[in-house]
Amino acid sequence: CGIVGYVGGQSALDVVIAGLKRLEYRGYDSAGVAVLADGGLAAAKKAGKLVNLEKQLVERPLPSGSTGIGHTRWATHGGPTDANAHPHLDNAGRVAVVHNGIIENFAALRAELAERGHDLESETDTEVVAHLLAESFSSCGDLADSMRMVCRQLEGAFTLVAVHADEPDVVVGARRNSPLVVGVGEGESFLASDVAAFIAHTRSAIELGQDQVVELRRDGVTVTGFDGEPADVRSYHVDWDASA
Ligand code: GLU
Repeated sequence: CGIVGYVGGQSALDVVIAGLKRLEYRGYDSAGVAVLADGGLAAAKKAGKLVNLEKQLVERPLPSGSTGIGHTRWATHGGPTDANAHPHLDNAGRVAVVHNGIIENFAALRAELAERGHDLESETDTEVVAHLLAESFSSCGDLADSMRMVCRQLEGAFTLVAVHADEPDVVVGARRNSPLVVGVGEGESFLASDVAAFIAHTRSAIELGQDQVVELRRDGVTVTGFDGEPADVRSYHVDWDASA
């Protein structure tokens, strides 16, 4: 239901949790985060309100890193359990993905992945994306390319945001029939389902178009279509009151 992504000089976990709090008004049943740190990926997720996740993070802290993603879930496929909460990871634990929306053809993709030896652990439509991204990444070595390749196989409505431990300074997002906004800061970049998540940090935003993929880095963003063609982007200034 809510998505936040961050890469920059601050603690990604702090920025992501604060951003998720700004999206709490939308309603949700579970929450989770993933952070890239020390060459690896660490994730935590929990059914219930953000405060449950925060309590777990105090008991079992994640290593601190400057690239991260977060999600609040409104379950559509699979009940609101810890296992079904996002992020979803591939079997090697190198990719993490969060998703808003519904992937209509997930059952067919799931069956194909199972045939290729993947072990899927949740009941969600989302988990297939983590496994597909991992497969693509192992052949092309680029997360944005992998996202474009995977999105071309997906049907339905989705905002997807992913990180890969082998690209520690990159967050990739994609959207079809579901919103995704980019925030451009100085030496830091943001992604969210709603500008409310990042306006405390930057007022410079880019609305991602239909069937587009964005690669987020500290020093800027690159937007293309699912076909890899560069997209025209125009940033705009968010001028509504942040304190609301
Ligand atoms: N369909 C996904 C799920 O049930 C995402 C739901 C959402 O938009 O939060 O896990």
